[in-house]
Amino acid sequence: MDPGNNTLNAAEVINTYNEHDLARILRVYGEEKFASQIAREIVRRREQEPIETTGQFVEIIKAGIPAAARRHGGHPAKKSFQAIRIEVNHELDVLERGLDAATRWLNPGGRICVISYHSLEDRIVKNHFKEMSQGCTCPPEIPVCVCGNVPILKVITRKPLVAQPDEVARNPRARSAKIRVAQRL
Ligand SMILES: [Zn+2]
Repeated sequence: MDPGNNTLNAAEVINTYNEHDLARILRVYGEEKFASQIAREIVRRREQEPIETTGQFVEIIKAGIPAAARRHGGHPAKKSFQAIRIEVNHELDVLERGLDAATRWLNPGGRICVISYHSLEDRIVKNHFKEMSQGCTCPPEIPVCVCGNVPILKVITRKPLVAQPDEVARNPRARSAKIRVAQRL
């Protein structure tokens, strides 16, 4: 959640990535339905002048989203900003490596508790906990285990914990937060 100062890198992504890569980032990281339209608009606009301000970027995103779709949902630019932020920070790579390291450093009985603010992040946490709690990853057709992997985590939260309406009312950012907990065996 660090607002940080990544404006230079964000501008690099927006001004130098090709249309295909921009669309992929917007679609995968932002879950933006109009990713290809927005990517096309970015490329069209930056041929006229470099995109240097968030205001310019918001205008481009709005131009890429059909008017009817702009009327519902949150701010039309939210998904695209999120997507660029993830690309700039390599957040998902960092998350996977962090989860691996944190799990290895736990003492038996120690717990890892992760709060994520985005469904892609939550999915990574969920899958990490699942893999670490399953152990053996051998294909089902092999009669005996050859991988030798053993479970090292027990999942404590089958479903992620989320904020109740009163907490969301007090702290709107809690709306997208999901907490998962696992325990080292
Ligand atoms: Zn196995």
